[in-house]
Formats: sequence, C-alpha cells, structure tokens
Amino acid sequence: MATTDQVLKPDFATKRKHFIFTEEHDRLRESIGSFVEKELAPHAERWEEETFDDWVFERMGELGFLGLSYPEEYGGQGGDYYCNLVLAEEITKSNSGGLAMGVAVHTDMATPPVFLFGTEEQKQNYLVPSIKGQKISSLGITEPDAGSDVSGIKTRAVRDGDEYVINGSKTYITNGHRSDYIVLVTKTDPDAGYDGFTLFLVDMDAEGVIREKKLEKLGMHASDTALLAFQDVRVPETAVLGQEGKGFYHIMWELQGERLIGAAGCVAGAQRCFDRTLQYALERNAFGRQIGKFQAIRHKFAEMATKIESARQLTYTTAWRFNNGEYPVREISMAKLYAARIAVEVADECIQIHGGAGYMKEYGVERVWRDMRLNRIGAGTDEIMLDVIGRSYGL
Ligand SMILES: Cc1cc2nc3c(=O)[nH]c(=O)nc-3n(C[C@H](O)[C@H](O)[C@H](O)COP(=O)(O)OP(=O)(O)OC[C@H]3O[C@@H](n4cnc5c(N)ncnc54)[C@H](O)[C@@H]3O)c2cc1C
Repeated sequence: MATTDQVLKPDFATKRKHFIFTEEHDRLRESIGSFVEKELAPHAERWEEETFDDWVFERMGELGFLGLSYPEEYGGQGGDYYCNLVLAEEITKSNSGGLAMGVAVHTDMATPPVFLFGTEEQKQNYLVPSIKGQKISSLGITEPDAGSDVSGIKTRAVRDGDEYVINGSKTYITNGHRSDYIVLVTKTDPDAGYDGFTLFLVDMDAEGVIREKKLEKLGMHASDTALLAFQDVRVPETAVLGQEGKGFYHIMWELQGERLIGAAGCVAGAQRCFDRTLQYALERNAFGRQIGKFQAIRHKFAEMATKIESARQLTYTTAWRFNNGEYPVREISMAKLYAARIAVEVADECIQIHGGAGYMKEYGVERVWRDMRLNRIGAGTDEIMLDVIGRSYGL
C-alpha cells in the first residue's frame, strides 16, 4: 500500500512529456539539440555582427534537418508535423534568434507552398535542393506600402506570350540577400479582388532582380533582411506556383504554418530565458540572501512559468489539431498572439531580475528581448491576430 508520503509528494523535478511526442521525437530532439549546441551556438556572437553563414543550410541539409516532415521521395525524413516543432524548439539552443528565423523561413514558410502547390518539376528543381540545403529560399509578401493588408500589394505580373513580366518591390525579406529563389506574391489581375493574386517561384539571379539593401534592425541581427526590387523580371509560365489567381488563398494557408511554428519558437525561447534567469537568481545575492528567495522575485518566476506553460499547452494542442489535418485558424492565431506576447513579457522580466546585468550585452538577456520583440509584428501583428480571432466569432 502506498504511504501518504509517496502519494502526496509533488514531482516537480520529473520531466513531463507531452502526449504529442514519442520516443522517436525524443531521439530527434537529442540529435538536433546536440548539433545546435556543438556546431551553431559557438558562432552566435560573431553572427550577431556578420549574419549567420550559409554553410548552416548545407550542414543541416546533410543531417536531414531541413526536410523533417517532407516525404522521403523528395529527400525528406517522412516525419510528422511535431518534428518541425522539435526543430523550432531545439534551434533556440543556438542563442541566436536571427539564425532560428532564417532557418524557419526556409523550412516552414517558403518551402511548404512548393511542396503543397508545386508541380513535380518545381518540387524537383526547388524543394529537393532546398531539403539538401543546396538552395536557400525566401518568401516575399510584404511591400513598402502593404504589410498587414496583403490585398494591398502592388507587385504586378503581366502575361506576355508564354512568359510573365514582374515589376514591383518587396521589403523586410528574411534571407533576401542569401536566397537562391523567392516565393513571390504578385497581383496578376488587379480587378479580380482576392482572386487576382498569383504566386511565382523566381530565381534570385534572374535579370531584373535587385537586392537593394540590407536593412538594419532592432534585433534578429544574425538574419539578413532585404529590400528587393523586381524590374521587368521575365519568368516562364512554369514559374507560376499553384493556381493562377489563387495566390491569396495559397499564402493565407502558408501563414498558418508560419504562425504556429513561430509560437513554438516563442515558447522555447521564453523557456530558455527563464532557465538562465533562474540560475542567475540562485547565484546572485543581495541583502544576505539569494535574490530568488525574495517573494517579489519568486512571484515573478511563478507568473512567468504559468504564462510559458499556458502558451506551450495552447501551441501543442493546436499543433495536434493541425497534424490531424484540421485547419484551426482561430487557435493558431491565439497561439501566435499569446506566445509572442508572453515571450516578450518573460524576456522583459528576465532583464529586470538580472538588474544592471540584464542591460549588458554580455548576459544575452537583452538580446532575447530584442529578438522576441519581432514576434508581435512579423507573420501578422498582434492587432491582426486579434482581428482574425474576433472575426471568427462572426463579428
Ligand atoms: C525582421 C523582419 C523580418 C520579416 N520577414 C519577412 C519576410 O521574410 N517576408 C515577408 O513577406 N515579410 C516579412 N516581414 C514583414 C512583416 O510580416 C510585416 O512587417 C508585418 O506583417 C506588418 O506589416 P507592416 O510592417 O507593413 O505594418 P502595417 O501593416 O503598416 O501596420 C502598422 C500598424 O497598424 C496596425 N494595423 C494594420 N492593420 C490593422 C487593422 N486592420 N486593425 C488594427 N490594426 C491594424 C498593425 O497592427 C501595426 O500596429 C518581416 C518583418 C520584420 C520586421
């Protein structure tokens, strides 16, 4: 018979596995985590200055990490969607938000539309080399005059015989300087409303593609962010990705995966920041005791832990629905909104708990805050997420 002591003893130290993950995911987690710690994290400081090196893609391709959930026939690992979550979580061990973002754009934003909507030829020409890490991808939605309002984009693709001629510009494009191709959102029929958009696969070395400038930013310094111009860029009709006129719907689908993977990255990043700060709170003393033992600080940890756990559960449950073939746009928007918000709040509290040290670059907490701040803007702002959620109730 169990004793009272055994029954009531809290198991705080037990590692809990969420039901979506199997032993196989654990092994994947271990192998990605150790690769990230050994081969990527040591370069994090330099990459803050110079942006991360392109070899990261080749190396990750070699290890099979760029196609975790793509079928084996295209060089993928044939895993489920949870494998992508594992990657998004483990890559935070690089201590480089910019690197994590650059890789996520490739694995979870630009290549999914190629896989879902691409012709066999496009998959062979773009998806297969992307999974090998031999071609780097980017995704071009945002323009200088249209971000949240995707329907307001002006980049035009006009048919000319069996070609299209593309003119326009895109901004804030992650991987824009290093990418070999871009999944480009254009308007083919400005009078057709939401049915007037078309996606194209455009080679970045095509004549008329201009990588105008590298943009300087608050955080995510390890990533490159480009302003791009397209001047009379001629592409064959085989460059159309998906259905002509259906680009708006295609890109709205893409954004769901982008948001969910972003939520997972936010939760993992917040957890890492929490763990490091907990360590600090146990080492740093003031007024004769560890700062973590002050009730004010202890409660900060309690608040942070509760927020992280709530965001994690929301993200995992939504991922479970997504993996089961559902299209849970409302919950994805909730997960993206909430995870991004709490990640910024956690990073901010972690700076506070570090005191002056939190403001110093050396401790890396200020960088987490700067990097995380993007998540309330990129892939759909907080306000757009709230609008999607609110509208889903018929409002
Ligand atoms: C570092 C970085 C990397 C990025 N990478 C990429 C990339 O790789 N590819 C890409 O295509 N884009 C990328 N983006 C662009 C990003 O997705 C957009 O910045 C974002 O969608 C917001 O668009 P915007 O900047 O034009 O802001 P705006 O749309 O101009 O919004 C300005 C403000 O108005 C609010 N607002 C707008 N509409 C509404 C509304 N209907 N109701 C209430 N409030 C509203 C917004 O929430 C925001 O607060 C990146 C951005 C950054 C900063």
